[in-house]
Amino acid sequence: MNDARMILIAAPSGAGKNSFMERALAEFPVLKDIVTYTTRKMRTGEVDGEHYHFISKTDFQEKIDQGFFAEWSPVHDSLYGTSHQSLEAAWAEGRVAIMDIDVQGVEKFMKIYPDGISVFILPPSIEELKKRILARDKKAPENLQLRLQNAEKEIQLAHTFDYQLVNDDFEKSYQGFKKILEELLPFE
Ligand code: 5GP
Repeated sequence: MNDARMILIAAPSGAGKNSFMERALAEFPVLKDIVTYTTRKMRTGEVDGEHYHFISKTDFQEKIDQGFFAEWSPVHDSLYGTSHQSLEAAWAEGRVAIMDIDVQGVEKFMKIYPDGISVFILPPSIEELKKRILARDKKAPENLQLRLQNAEKEIQLAHTFDYQLVNDDFEKSYQGFKKILEELLPFE
């Protein structure tokens, strides 16, 4: 057992990290999903305040100026950020913050909160990743190429994370993730 307060999950988009997060949140009530902020457009099926807080570039910039974000980064062609307030609220409840952020975000958070735990979820291959992104967003997302290029760059940084999991078979990979959580989380 450990006193982890923050679990950072990074994976190239399409590697399946949402399934890991959903399952872990259902099985470990101590985890608190941190809803982050973005300037990107909502995808079909997404809900404001649930998947992200969707805000304009102007509002995002104002929040940067106000020191609202614990961390923010440009990802693909939008801005993403995590508020101080959302983390403080999770910790005030005695919960462990879990969040899905990109590799730059993980790097920044690990400097501010060195006791954070970083987990990288790898897709079985770039080809498989491409298939998953296309299947998720039936119309080819306009920035597919950019997402794939970024995926290749991110994968090269996987070794800098505390844990790496290959999502080839979800059930098997999730059991690996669950084992990590069981070792780290308090009260579980
Ligand atoms: P998507 O647009 O596909 O939902 O997410 C794009 C990327 O932004 C993902 O890698 C996701 O993990 C990352 N992301 C989401 N919120 C944040 C955040 O607050 N900070 C950073 N650095 N990345 C984030």
